[in-house]
Amino acid sequence: MGQKDNHIDKHMDEYIKEISEKIDGKRKYYAEISNKIWEYAEPRFQEYKSSELLRQSLKEEGFSVRSNLAGEETAFIAEYGSGKPVIGFLGEFDALPGLSQKADATERIPEADHANGCGHGCGHQLIGTGTLASVIALKDFMKEHNLKGTIRYYGCPAEENAGGKAFLVRDGYFNDCDLALCWHPEQGRRACYGSTKANFRVFFTFHGTPAHASMCPELGRSALDAVELMDVGVNYMREHMIDEARIHYAITDTGGDAPNVVQSRAQVLYAIRAPKITQVKELYNRVCNIAKGAALMTETTVEIRQVAAYSNLISSKILADHMNAYLEKLGPIPYTEQEYAYAQKFQQALSDQDKKQLPTIARDYFGSKAAEAMKPPIFEPIAYQNLYSDLKYSTDVGDVSWIVPTVHLNIPTFAAGTALHSWQAVAQGRSTIAHKGMLYAAKIMALTAIDFLQNPELADEARKELTETLNGETYPNPLPGDLKPEIW
Ligand SMILES: [Zn+2]
Repeated sequence: MGQKDNHIDKHMDEYIKEISEKIDGKRKYYAEISNKIWEYAEPRFQEYKSSELLRQSLKEEGFSVRSNLAGEETAFIAEYGSGKPVIGFLGEFDALPGLSQKADATERIPEADHANGCGHGCGHQLIGTGTLASVIALKDFMKEHNLKGTIRYYGCPAEENAGGKAFLVRDGYFNDCDLALCWHPEQGRRACYGSTKANFRVFFTFHGTPAHASMCPELGRSALDAVELMDVGVNYMREHMIDEARIHYAITDTGGDAPNVVQSRAQVLYAIRAPKITQVKELYNRVCNIAKGAALMTETTVEIRQVAAYSNLISSKILADHMNAYLEKLGPIPYTEQEYAYAQKFQQALSDQDKKQLPTIARDYFGSKAAEAMKPPIFEPIAYQNLYSDLKYSTDVGDVSWIVPTVHLNIPTFAAGTALHSWQAVAQGRSTIAHKGMLYAAKIMALTAIDFLQNPELADEARKELTETLNGETYPNPLPGDLKPEIW
């Protein structure tokens, strides 16, 4: 931080003390909310109870709440304060299908009474609740210090598989927002200064003609043949695309299980990823041509339906620098011996493959500090601060980041080496390690926001930085204009 930020430097300890007291004072309350959302484990666009619980808590704290936004019933905006800057906090709360898991168990035991079979394998119960703790503490701080500005909790549904935020961005809910802060459980502590992959989700549905496969095969036109030929075509295309791109598919309808009936309908879902959304659009057009070619070859027809899109993440360095300063100052999360023993137990239960990956993860995150980082079973050092890497996953935070200066914080909430989207991540989601990480993230976000509320000119600098980073590019809204959020 520069000369003009001396004011902030001087007050950091004071801010840390005040915000920490506010958040730690309600530790049990937040742990309970997070555990409830963990139990609800509601998947994309069905987060009714989780969204209601968070909205209720925000209303009780005096936030004004608008809900059902952009065609998303579970989306909401809770607002406090007035005037500029407008600081948005992005809360998530959706779970993942097929990941129901007993808490604290180091072996795979799905929760028997969990009818929907979902589980919080990406820690979004912690994101939703940590964000809640952050805005409540910040609201109290603003009141006490008579600080101007607006803070908003954006209740963002369906981060997984549907990119809920892209719809909120498309429909203008971020147009007057000056800064966006969010966090996600990860291996190391860091203000993420990197880019994620842009991503399209597209259904290709082929329609053919049914026929008895032995008596009159000449009358049949197979939709399943079309799916297979399309997949082969795309697999040949892989040789001729950029290295960083990723294409994966799932056959979501094989046309039935009777080999003696020519399949008249078959469907495949594609995920097309690349570093930039413009590159994804190019690949998407080529995949569409292959699908049309497969339809032509098989004399079937193809219906193409894009259902979600994620833009690549543009990171704000100014926001990341402020966040990193607080990460340094707040230091590592303190754990008890029992918590280390708990994490150790989970580390031992990792698959051999995951165990082998651990030194590589440590090297990627901590470089020369990797050996030191590997000693405890939860990563403690700060990961590379100015890491500018192309992250391999996608997030719909990317869409927000094209129009609002955005920072993405990472904080560990589980044993080092635990993979996101795994049952192990679900199992550790109610632990005190998870809750500590959640509240630590809440503090860092609130503290970072204080710097920008105290010094509104910093928001202008962040806006200028975003304009420079984009260098003339504008948000390439990746969603078809008439696409509505849907459960598919
Ligand atoms: Zn996630």
